[in-house]
Amino acid sequence: MHIRFWGVRGSLPAPQLPSQIKSKISAILERLTAADIESPESRERFLAELPPWLFGTVGGNTPCITVHTDTLPGPLVFDAGSGIREMGIALSREKPKPSSYRVFFSHFHWDHLQGLPFFNPAYDPGVQIDFYAPLNNLEAALYGQMAPPYFPVSMESMGAKKNFHIISDKLFFDGVTVSCKKMNHPGDSYTYLVADGKHRFVYATDAELSAADFIKNEENAAFFEKADLAVIDSQYTLGEAIEKYNWGHSAFSMAVDFAANWGIKHLVLFHHDPAYDDRKLFNILQSARWYMERMNVKGIKLSLATEGQEIKL
Ligand SMILES: [Zn+2]
Ligand SMILES: [Zn+2]
Repeated sequence: MHIRFWGVRGSLPAPQLPSQIKSKISAILERLTAADIESPESRERFLAELPPWLFGTVGGNTPCITVHTDTLPGPLVFDAGSGIREMGIALSREKPKPSSYRVFFSHFHWDHLQGLPFFNPAYDPGVQIDFYAPLNNLEAALYGQMAPPYFPVSMESMGAKKNFHIISDKLFFDGVTVSCKKMNHPGDSYTYLVADGKHRFVYATDAELSAADFIKNEENAAFFEKADLAVIDSQYTLGEAIEKYNWGHSAFSMAVDFAANWGIKHLVLFHHDPAYDDRKLFNILQSARWYMERMNVKGIKLSLATEGQEIKL
């Protein structure tokens, strides 16, 4: 299983501001010495040693993740936030390019479908796209956002063969099972589990974790227990989660507690707040590591979801 992150930001795309770029450049220059620019090797070493919040960015696109499996010809796509645009461009350049996509929606809040009108493969008559959601208004929600006065091009203009599937529990593809589970979020959202017989991947965005998600019953265990990789909503700090109770998102410390509860092997913090800059997000990662240490949580790999990141299971 090969997981790629195309959009990791929550609520709203958050491009880098000119002032943020300028302050990164000036912080890099402050660190630079004459020895660092002596040779190509010393330059490379200098760049490699810069903190990740300075050299690069977490990314500003809203949620989109692809999962490639050994048996399915095209990717499983989770959410169509603005990150799907770059995904469509990148995968169309691959040889052979995918001729089928399976797109799953966690829910229809704008940040999870706003990229769809800009998904190039949808306009290619040689492509088949299957859309899935456990929500009855799947087709209407997608067609509705591509209509005047919101957007000039209708979904009928998308030349790809389109199928819409309202799902209830489990789907069986060639050697791959995809299950869904309702989570606590305004208007509901759905978490997905992808299992290929070797590995289990959980995508749980827009989920305000609650006591019910920690209960060791059969249903929860079948979904979360010992997942190899779990991408979990961790938009807030704990203070914000308390302040924004019932807004439908979790604190990073809640995501750590959840991963510890279920013996998750690799936790990825996801759905970053649009107001947070790269430095703040890497501080959150640091705080989550510190929290794990203080709580004596061991054996969990922890990462911050970053645009362009790839994880192979
Ligand atoms: Zn969202
Ligand atoms: Zn939402």
